[in-house]
Amino acid sequence: MNHTDTVRTQTPRTSQREHSTPIFPTSSFVFDDAEHMRAMFADEQEGNIYSRFTNPTVAEFVQKVAAMEGAAAGVATTTGMAAGFASIMALLRSGDHIVSSRALFGSTVALLNQYLPRWGITCTYVDIADIDQWTNAIQPNTKMLLVETPSNPGLDLADLAALGALANSRGLILNVDNTFATPMLQRPLDLGAHLVWHSATKWFDGQGRTMGGVVVGQEDLIKQVYQYCRNTGPSLSPFNAWVLSKSLETLHVRMERHSVHALTLATAIEAHSAVEFVRYPFLPSHHQYDLARQQMSAGGGIVAMCVRGGYDAATQFMDKLTLFTITANVGDTRSIVTHPASSTHAKLTEADRQAVGISQGLVRLSVGLENVEDLVRDVMEALG
Ligand SMILES: *Cc1c(COP(=O)(O)O)cnc(C)c1O
Repeated sequence: MNHTDTVRTQTPRTSQREHSTPIFPTSSFVFDDAEHMRAMFADEQEGNIYSRFTNPTVAEFVQKVAAMEGAAAGVATTTGMAAGFASIMALLRSGDHIVSSRALFGSTVALLNQYLPRWGITCTYVDIADIDQWTNAIQPNTKMLLVETPSNPGLDLADLAALGALANSRGLILNVDNTFATPMLQRPLDLGAHLVWHSATKWFDGQGRTMGGVVVGQEDLIKQVYQYCRNTGPSLSPFNAWVLSKSLETLHVRMERHSVHALTLATAIEAHSAVEFVRYPFLPSHHQYDLARQQMSAGGGIVAMCVRGGYDAATQFMDKLTLFTITANVGDTRSIVTHPASSTHAKLTEADRQAVGISQGLVRLSVGLENVEDLVRDVMEALG
């Protein structure tokens, strides 16, 4: 596995000489005198003022993510959606245009379709893997290329190096949702992206406890995202930052195991007669297998499978599973199963779902860290 260099960005120890990093659950920070307060507000001195702006525990989390992604700077937010929204609202204005892959997380589609048009920001959707479509969709007012790779739940990939080259040749911002890969498996900034955002709720936390989000990238862009968050207030709480920060210390180990378990499961179920197809980036049958091997160091924790027999067969299969919980999350140590067409992507039209491969038989498995033989047996038995 690449990118597992030790990341030791820690807040300075307090007088207690603690080993585990402390939490600073404070709304505000004290000034020595009125002149100190004036100088801090005037940006003449660096430091913490108020936890909506900065907080040491939150800063530690952000610095770790930035180091893992190879980013100059970052901003943490309450949720992944707040991070994605901030990365757009801070940088775009009325009249601007986004080119985005069609295969996106459900709430990201809602942002682009329902909210951004109210402020005059429009979007053209393209097929994630078709670089000609990306190129042809660029208009004079296009400012950003937006992509999620691997996509949720179809596990289609974008060629990040090709998109990075396109963005750089046209002066556009390449903004990547890297939630499914994490920096342990893929580093978009190395391939030409300018911004990367995450739902930290998923593998960063890794144990289904806290919500969180983060945007990292080029310093000039992050400065604007920071100002937007400082003024509009989607700031991460110190407690959640502390949980997430601790979790990052095991991210490389967890992603390696998630990926081994997912590949083992995907391989085992692919030939089952009740399965129409299995989609996993590191399965040789994946239509972008070569690209996956090139830009990712492992396939990640999600397996998409299509059960023969549509909605009834897919949901009956889910109900028979005993080790996979039916819940709206991914990236937990515990295995999870969902039916995207009737849950996360239920608000899309049937035609839009078809366009990104979300059929009624599609089931999304988030493969956890339980005994992998038990997981394979559970899926096999549920398939019958
Ligand atoms: C969950 C998720 C989001 C949204 O993150 P929240 O933390 O739930 O707000 C965005 N993108 C992807 C790929 C996700 O899986």
